[in-house]
Amino acid sequence: MASQEDIVLKSMIRKFITGCHILHYHRVLDAYGHLSFRHPSKPDVFLMSRYIAPATISSDRDVIEYYVSNAEPVDPNSPPGYSERCIHSEIYRRYPDVQSVVHSHSEAVVPYSISGTRTPVFDIAEHFQPDDIKDMLVRNTRLGAALAACFADTPTATSPDHAVVLMRGHGFTTQASSIEECVLRAVYTQQNASIQTTALLTHAAHFSAAPARATDAQAEVKYLDEEESQASGVMTKWSAYRPWGLWCREVEASGLYVNQA
Ligand SMILES: [Zn+2]
Repeated sequence: MASQEDIVLKSMIRKFITGCHILHYHRVLDAYGHLSFRHPSKPDVFLMSRYIAPATISSDRDVIEYYVSNAEPVDPNSPPGYSERCIHSEIYRRYPDVQSVVHSHSEAVVPYSISGTRTPVFDIAEHFQPDDIKDMLVRNTRLGAALAACFADTPTATSPDHAVVLMRGHGFTTQASSIEECVLRAVYTQQNASIQTTALLTHAAHFSAAPARATDAQAEVKYLDEEESQASGVMTKWSAYRPWGLWCREVEASGLYVNQA
């Protein structure tokens, strides 16, 4: 008979697979990028897929347990995994409350990693050592720890101050306290980047054509202020299950995705 722990883990693996499918359905992940979650009863272990495209993950046989301490598989005979799993391990290692992580190469977001933004940007070039392969991938725990540090404003913080960190010329990573919230943050990071791009382009087109008519208030793109941003973050947290229910139905109704967990 399955233990309560086994039942909870099985349910989370099923949710994880659905999360991978949702992220693909919304084009946050393509053949690359990944979702992970912390083991519900072993906080020093996290789980993510073997080395396949997220849309094709279909059962618990595709899921590997890794140690948070070093990103090595719990079972040494596990199938090959993603080379960038150190992104995930180091975020779980530094921030005990983080339960889920998404890493994406979303084309809507990457431009902001090289064009300047107030969102923290991890520049891997500042952390390369001579022996590192300089292909922008976070291939070891040292680079993963440097990325994880960008989520906090102070070197000793054990809770993240930022939901998202951009990665120069590469993509972004987000973390959250549940799989549902992490998927939501990833989907809306992409959607918000698209909105911001459209706002910036619209603004530039309008005011470059008629600069003399622009008042000071009209001449700037108006972002959420700190209080609006904080309150919106709280609202997003409690409302995360509404889009999740819709997104589950979308991937269930699609012929592409299989979830046998
Ligand atoms: Zn990557």
